[in-house]
Amino acid sequence: MMNNIQKVSDFFMCSNCGACKAICPKDAINFKKSTIGRMYATVNESCIECGLCIKVCPSLDKTLYKTFPDRYIGNINNIYIGKSTDKQIFNNAQSGGICTALLKFLFKAKKIEAAIVCKMLSGNPPIVTPFVITDINQLYECQKSCYTPVDILSVIKDTAKFKSIALVGLPCHIQGAIKLEEIIKKYSNIKYKIGLICDRTLCETIQNVMIRFCANGTAKINWRKKNVRKGNYYYPYKTAPIVVSYDKGTEYVLPNIYRLSLKEMFTAPRCRVCYDKLNTFADIVVGDPWGMSNVDWEKGDSVIITRTTTGQKLIEDLKNSNFITLNNANIEELLKGQHIIERKMSVSIWSKTLTTLSNPIDSYLFKQQDIEFIPFSQTQKTQKELLQFIEREKLSKEDIVLQAQKHVKKSIYLTNIRRWMPINILRKIKSIINK
Ligand SMILES: Cc1cc2nc3c(=O)[nH]c(=O)nc-3n(C[C@H](O)[C@H](O)[C@H](O)COP(=O)(O)OP(=O)(O)OC[C@H]3O[C@@H](n4cnc5c(N)ncnc54)[C@H](O)[C@@H]3O)c2cc1C
Ligand code: SF4
Ligand code: SF4
Ligand code: SF4
Repeated sequence: MMNNIQKVSDFFMCSNCGACKAICPKDAINFKKSTIGRMYATVNESCIECGLCIKVCPSLDKTLYKTFPDRYIGNINNIYIGKSTDKQIFNNAQSGGICTALLKFLFKAKKIEAAIVCKMLSGNPPIVTPFVITDINQLYECQKSCYTPVDILSVIKDTAKFKSIALVGLPCHIQGAIKLEEIIKKYSNIKYKIGLICDRTLCETIQNVMIRFCANGTAKINWRKKNVRKGNYYYPYKTAPIVVSYDKGTEYVLPNIYRLSLKEMFTAPRCRVCYDKLNTFADIVVGDPWGMSNVDWEKGDSVIITRTTTGQKLIEDLKNSNFITLNNANIEELLKGQHIIERKMSVSIWSKTLTTLSNPIDSYLFKQQDIEFIPFSQTQKTQKELLQFIEREKLSKEDIVLQAQKHVKKSIYLTNIRRWMPINILRKIKSIINK
């Protein structure tokens, strides 16, 4: 076996963070996508087997995951609920606009010269790409969450010339950045690591499914657009729908069942064994305040976790400069709302399941059995799901889209039946099933 990261991808464990591409001295690493849209690194014939990509890869790391007593929670200084006071940022944001308010403050206070973010370009399907910004005016077009994979760290080479930069990233991106800093000195210019909470990314072909439900043409997809009105129906932040906006000006609104019903089908195995939903290596973390109290579910709010003194000072500076409003929040509510106990269980089950494939790579990812007792029925279920994913990747893109459309229609049909069924009939059926 070659001394490079190809084996990580071959075994479904690449999170497409981009760290290996950034470190490779021979430019031998590129990214590919399978028919379902799983993104992974591949190595070409220029490889000289120097082993640097192996050293930097967070999926192969042997120490990072031991950093905190509870790796699912990490170090927490404070938790807040807040929002940006800038109307343009707030209205255009995914949640409370905290992420963009942080970047605006850092640029204005001249604490950074550049920031690495990501952005969606319109296309059929749309293209999600990492992006280096050097100007406050570029911030707005990079707002909102892109739920499909993006190799953020691939562009980090372009920022080596700056003294101080900020990086916005998912937990796997931030882990890749930590490893890069450890190995290559020039990347110690990442002064602010702004993390997003991350449940998973969805394989890219889900975008083709959404376009197919609307119309053919080049478009952008907003996966959760808040404050949308369609006819007489109003969608607040809490039930924010998908909005597909075409270059020619038309807009389609799809209720969030179109995304939620496809989540399991489009989740790649790497995300199944990811413990770091709460982005434990960032200075400051931003997410949606699911399950928390005193939240503006109508217009939007962000949950904020400060993890380092840098992150704590930054959030206090923003508050004191009136860039944001901030209220204290509660850790129990955060952990419950983000389903951290359930995640420990599912990571344990999936890590056990993945070892049933032949020749697994030597990675902590398969040793995460945090839960002592895993029911046999659970491992059987995940094994079936894993095999289904592997089989689905062998289908053509067209067949995957058709399969997904059928699945969405079935979910909508079942939801409607449940909605219209008299409650007493439902209870009767439940009691018969439970007998
Ligand atoms: C794949 C994904 C999964 C998520 N899962 C959860 C979850 O389970 N629970 C939860 O509470 N929150 C989750 N979030 C975070 C949430 O959706 C918002 O991104 C977060 O609340 C920030 O909102 P904001 O209004 O402050 O940001 P905005 O002001 O809208 O700015 C968003 C920022 O995020 C950056 N960004 C967008 N997509 C990506 C990406 N794929 N990779 C790196 N940077 C990106 C943008 O460049 C921009 O800087 C997820 C986000 C993503 C991208
Ligand atoms: S082993 Fe070295 S040359 Fe080969 S892909 Fe990895 S970093 Fe590049
Ligand atoms: S460094 Fe990141 S992109 Fe490269 S193989 Fe590892 S996980 Fe994949
Ligand atoms: S779940 Fe983990 S591996 Fe998957 S995209 Fe999010 S941070 Fe990366």
